[in-house]
Amino acid sequence: MRLEINRNSQLKITKENNDFIILKDNKELVRGDIESVLAHCPEQAYITLSERCIYDCTFCSVPKLQGKIKTLKEAINIVEQAKKTGLMKAIAITSGVAKSPEDEIERRG
Ligand code: SF4
Repeated sequence: MRLEINRNSQLKITKENNDFIILKDNKELVRGDIESVLAHCPEQAYITLSERCIYDCTFCSVPKLQGKIKTLKEAINIVEQAKKTGLMKAIAITSGVAKSPEDEIERRG
C-alpha cells in the first residue's frame, strides 16, 4: 500500500514497537511494516523511462510529474546501483508517453 501524507486526513499513523499502525477515529485500521525502498520500490529497480505523459489517465501521477526522459545509460545505472545492494529481486520498467507512442518505441529501439 502506498499513501501520501495529508495533514487533513482522517487517517493517522503511529508506531508501536516495530509495527506502524494506521488509525481512523483513533481506532486501529491496519498494522504492518514500512518497507524500505530500493529504487523507487521495495526489492525492485523500478524505472519510469519518460517521467511525463501526453495522456491523463485518472489513476496515474506521471503526467503531473513533468519530469525528465531517462537515457539508456541512466536506466542501466539505476539497475547497477540497485544490484550492488544485493537486495534487488526484480527490475520493473515503465514509461509515460512524452510525445507519441511511436516516438517512445523509436527512442528505445
Ligand atoms: S503513463 Fe500510462 S497510465 Fe499514466 S497517463 Fe500516461 S498512458 Fe496513462
